[in-house]
Amino acid sequence: MSASETSKHYELFIGGKEVASSAGEKITLLNPATNEPLATATLGGREDARHAIEVAEQAFRSSGWADADGAHRARVLFKLGQLLTERAEEFSRLETLNQGKPLRESKADVLFAARTLEYMAGLADKVQGDAIPVPGERLDYTVREPIGVTLHIAPWNYPLQLSVRSLAPALAAGNTAVLKPATLTPLTALAFARLAKEAGLPDGVLNVVIAPGREVGESMVQDPRVASVSFTGSSEVGKRIMELASKNVVPVTLELGGKSPNVVFADADLDRAARGVLYGIFLNAGQMCWAGSRLIVQRSVQETFLAKLTELARKLKLGPGSEPGVEMGPLVSKDQMDRVLGYVEKGRSEGAKLVTGGSRATSARLDKGNFVEPTIFSETKPDMTIAREEIFGPVLTTFAFDSFEQAMELANDTTYGLFSGVWTKDLTTAHKAARNIQAGMVSVNEYPVTFPQTPFGGYKQSGIGLEQGVHALDFYTRTKNVNVFFGAPRKK
Ligand code: NAD
Repeated sequence: MSASETSKHYELFIGGKEVASSAGEKITLLNPATNEPLATATLGGREDARHAIEVAEQAFRSSGWADADGAHRARVLFKLGQLLTERAEEFSRLETLNQGKPLRESKADVLFAARTLEYMAGLADKVQGDAIPVPGERLDYTVREPIGVTLHIAPWNYPLQLSVRSLAPALAAGNTAVLKPATLTPLTALAFARLAKEAGLPDGVLNVVIAPGREVGESMVQDPRVASVSFTGSSEVGKRIMELASKNVVPVTLELGGKSPNVVFADADLDRAARGVLYGIFLNAGQMCWAGSRLIVQRSVQETFLAKLTELARKLKLGPGSEPGVEMGPLVSKDQMDRVLGYVEKGRSEGAKLVTGGSRATSARLDKGNFVEPTIFSETKPDMTIAREEIFGPVLTTFAFDSFEQAMELANDTTYGLFSGVWTKDLTTAHKAARNIQAGMVSVNEYPVTFPQTPFGGYKQSGIGLEQGVHALDFYTRTKNVNVFFGAPRKK
């Protein structure tokens, strides 16, 4: 993958090769830092999606991947992880040009994906059942089998990392896959599929269809040959996916939105906390499901803490993600920028106090791109729109509390429950908060943080099921119980 590759045309990837769309449609991908054309890509239609699912089904039956020794699958996935690590620079560059985030963030995403492949490779030969004691002369045991064609629908905020997050366990367990990346950011997913072939993944085991969500994605979810759906995206679309998957009684994992609290107690290391809160909302220009978008700070330190945070936010270097030293890139598209600025306007009109930011970032360098200033609101009330809805941009809301109970009430006052942060030096406060917060993940004195070996999943409307960790594999296998009677034949 060279710089010139970003000005080329990309096709779908089905059956181990590049394939043109049957409908002949094309999209132009833009660099979000300039809104200039970056590359063109084929846009698949329903026929292409059907074809990809058919190829994946054939590969499940006849490529040998499902029946292979787990150790073989482990070697291929491990090699894929190694190849990805070797090419981390190229992949990061492509991700940054297509999605906008700073290069060092793209690199961290690529390395996380590589590490996920290695981790899941290590589990590929450990998919095993149980022997279960039952009465009489019988042997009862379970086997865990791969489920078939797994469908993966990915969003645009971590295009490669979130695709690999669900693909790695699915492939480790012996399934085949069809990936539908977001149409805005398909480039690293396509490059990844080519790399998988190079690592030895049989043709047809991993297929990538670039296609619009509503028209084509919905038909994929409803295809009777699809055995599971792994969806990462908005809660609104997640609900629709669940409804559609129910028609064929197909299991889903839903990794959805968030409005995560970052709770700062007065005894915390405030300098460390300020950096954590800063990264928690301004990394990836705030386009994170796990963004710590609600700062909940003890009233006695609110003023000092906001002063530290504001100083850091104002110093953040904005610019194209591909430039060295840039700390915050553009939003992924002009639509996303307008949406975020709409929320900022709403915050102002509903009476929140703007502490810093609040506008499109302009300068000769930034004018053409989708840049929004790091924005902090204080005096936010729990019923304001900016306090309740996921903004998915660099906009922080702030609430003050006086007691532990009030902090927990504010933290849990949301329909979401994905990530959460707690900042304190007191062990009791930390563990009590971890017990009380209704979220799938709690992080103490660090934000945001996750590892391929730790579970990632949401409570409430943030989702169903877990990605990452050993349990992620469970979703991609089904359990069969076998009972064998070996007693004496019944007397007549
Ligand atoms: P989105 O829901 O609009 O789209 C996600 C994917 O679903 C895309 O590939 C899209 O093409 C597809 N899609 C859209 N409508 C569809 C439909 N009707 N049927 C089938 N597929 C459809 O989300 P987005 O804007 O790409 O991403 C942002 C959202 O994703 C945010 O809400 C964010 O919180 C969430 N997210 C969650 C996690 C997590 O792990 N919990 C991670 C990243 C992003």
